[in-house]
Amino acid sequence: MSLKKVLITGASRGIGQSIIKQFYSKEFLPIGTATSEEGINKILESFSNSNVKGKAYQLDLNKNESIVNFFEELKSDDINPDILVNNAGITKDNLMLRMSEQDWNDVINIHLTGQFKLMKNFVRGMLKNRWGRIINISSAAAAIGNKGQANYVAAKAGIEAMSKSLAREVGSKNICVNCIAPGFIETDMIESLGKDYLNEISSEIPLQRLGNAEEVASLVKFISSDEASYITGQTIHINGGLYM
Ligand code: NAP
Repeated sequence: MSLKKVLITGASRGIGQSIIKQFYSKEFLPIGTATSEEGINKILESFSNSNVKGKAYQLDLNKNESIVNFFEELKSDDINPDILVNNAGITKDNLMLRMSEQDWNDVINIHLTGQFKLMKNFVRGMLKNRWGRIINISSAAAAIGNKGQANYVAAKAGIEAMSKSLAREVGSKNICVNCIAPGFIETDMIESLGKDYLNEISSEIPLQRLGNAEEVASLVKFISSDEASYITGQTIHINGGLYM
């Protein structure tokens, strides 16, 4: 049986790091990306600590040149992922009145345009193979809206709508396209919100706590599995009940 190639963007930290670890087994070739050499080394170190054969590449979704190089590198290594997890992301929060166009563009570029480019590039190989799974990480904020995150929620809501369109285009070829929308998950991304704010948020979550990256990662693993083969075009929420 040939290895399933799984590409996870932003696998150096947080949710992406937990997702890639879900695929540390004989069935998969895990492939991770990071923006820096340091991030790449972190991914490679994690492979060698777990005795796993995997690959790591540099990718900055805010730089077209980096995306083009990344596609070329994968092509020359003869890699087209069977499972694509678009996870990489940033926040650049500010109230709309104060939000700069740069911060708007950066967040839209990295999330929405970045995911579009990766899906467009890799879906061709999936079509040829007549099998594929694309999982795009969205956010509960896309459904609820969030003060100070006009750029981020616009990008995430766009990702969900874009995923439904692709799901309709490629469903007949056994390719499933879904989104996973986490609530508050303990990673670097939400650290800047501060302990007091996060405690306040936790008390409003029905399960009374923040989520952890492993909980999101196991959902990604399930959605990519054969058990989930009749699920496409969906956004699956994982948020402790924050949004119902
Ligand atoms: P994180 O801990 O801050 O990790 C972000 C990852 O994205 C890192 O691997 C980072 O790589 C990569 N990245 C950052 N900028 C990039 C760029 N320009 N190009 C390519 N990769 C880039 O974030 P996280 O909390 O794990 O978030 C992962 C995903 O979950 C994001 O899409 C986020 O929007 C979503 N999400 C998170 C939460 C939450 O509460 N944490 C909630 C809902 C949704 P480097 O290490 O190289 O910087």
